Amino acid sequence: MKIPNEVKNIIEKLKEAGFEGFIVGGCVRDLLRKKEPEDWDIATNAKPLDIQRIFPKSYYSNQFFTVTVLTESDDPRLKEIEITTFRKEAKYTDKRHPDEVKFAENLREDLARRDFTINAMAIELKEEKEKIIDPFGGKKDLEKKIIRTVGEAKKRFNEDALRMLRAIRFAVSLGENWKIEEKTAQAIKENSFWISAISKERIREELMKIIMSERAAEGIELLRTFGLLKYIIPELEEGYKVTQNKHHIYDCYEHSLRSLDYAAKRGFNKFVRLAALLHDIAKPRTKKGEGPDATFYGHEVLGAKMTAEILNRLKFPKKEIEKIVKLVRYHLFYYNVGEVSESAVRRLLRKVGKENIEELLQVRMADRIGSGVPKAEPYKLRHLRYLIEKVSQDPISVKMLKVNGYDVMRILKIKPGPKVGEVLDILLGEVLEDPKKNEKEFLEKEIERLGKLEDEELKRLAQKARQERERLEMKRDEMTKRKYWVI
Ligand code: ATP
Ligand code: MG
Repeated sequence: MKIPNEVKNIIEKLKEAGFEGFIVGGCVRDLLRKKEPEDWDIATNAKPLDIQRIFPKSYYSNQFFTVTVLTESDDPRLKEIEITTFRKEAKYTDKRHPDEVKFAENLREDLARRDFTINAMAIELKEEKEKIIDPFGGKKDLEKKIIRTVGEAKKRFNEDALRMLRAIRFAVSLGENWKIEEKTAQAIKENSFWISAISKERIREELMKIIMSERAAEGIELLRTFGLLKYIIPELEEGYKVTQNKHHIYDCYEHSLRSLDYAAKRGFNKFVRLAALLHDIAKPRTKKGEGPDATFYGHEVLGAKMTAEILNRLKFPKKEIEKIVKLVRYHLFYYNVGEVSESAVRRLLRKVGKENIEELLQVRMADRIGSGVPKAEPYKLRHLRYLIEKVSQDPISVKMLKVNGYDVMRILKIKPGPKVGEVLDILLGEVLEDPKKNEKEFLEKEIERLGKLEDEELKRLAQKARQERERLEMKRDEMTKRKYWVI
């Protein structure tokens, strides 16, 4: 077992001061399953004031007896280590907060207040040797991949209903084949209603851990079968067994889950995952007709509205909501090689935002794979990526010059006419050949020099410069095509 020196040192210091110190919680679980822990927690019989005295570089900011100790480590997981005084939670009346938090007598009492057996183990350091303290059979459950509450499930969920959601989060995020033990599962089904007593922020945090796991889709299905989904995103359940039409083999709900599944397996970000899950959320409400010819007109518009409602309800940040709503609103964008004009692509970019376009394409891939079609249409999407880059490039034009038509007219004392354009075209040709020449002073001198040339000569030079520019534009386009493999 690899326990970092920072952690060992802290426990050593607690002992030197006459206290106990144990490694506890999620990190013990992760060590035993040979995963690098995300953070390290230490439990002790020292009181917060003692801890602060022993570790001057520390801060104490909440009322739950947790002191954060700052270490010298560069590793973000070890920079701050939390030390918590043994505690127990006394009497719950509102299904979410203990009425009071009290110091506990000993480690065992502290472990007993933790949610699941796999999270209720501790490590004791004894002369460089480690001893697992496991009063509730966490090690055995970990080996058998079982989520089981510490103590009576119903009672534990009544104390804090969020634990029901955590059970599902651990079941999908710890790896393959995890099961929720029978009594624990039964207690969730019987008490699912109480999840509505939990703050939306806490629900959102656990929900996002489910969504960010590779088995996100299984997690949502577990939420449904355990009766929790209807208190979190009831709109998703509206699509359960609602059939689509001849273009779809899956019902609305299953399609949403399969889209999410693809996004999760591909490791797409949270915005794409949420948009994949919610993109067809309004299909049940917009469905017209039955059977192979059913339609869902406007589901992307209503869907965007419903998505905003859902995410607002779950207290997502405003910026994130805006982004996901756009992905849902435009998930239907039409694209076919040769059929969609550059200006249509420009319009799409303007509406979705350039910064969201890659994610929109990913939502589209998830949508397609989630429909059961065999591939995500790689050529078509590559071609669209090519067009997006093409229309996003700055045009090669005289606007790039540090002088403009007014400068030409002023210096040559001429009125608007073809000559102005000719001079600018020639200057652009020179600058394209040597970008260093794009300096106001140099270009003004060039304007004077060109002004002295015969009209015929000027026309000829301008003609040549324009041809050269077209050649450059074609070359640039070819390079963009190559980049996206669409040649
Ligand atoms: P992660 O790897 O996601 O951080 P974790 O097990 O460390 O998983 P945390 O939410 O960080 O989970 O909680 C740390 C520990 O505190 C848990 O392992 C568990 O022992 C305890 N715990 C956390 N939340 C609860 C809760 N709602 N009820 C009881 N115990 C809890
Ligand atoms: Mg943790």
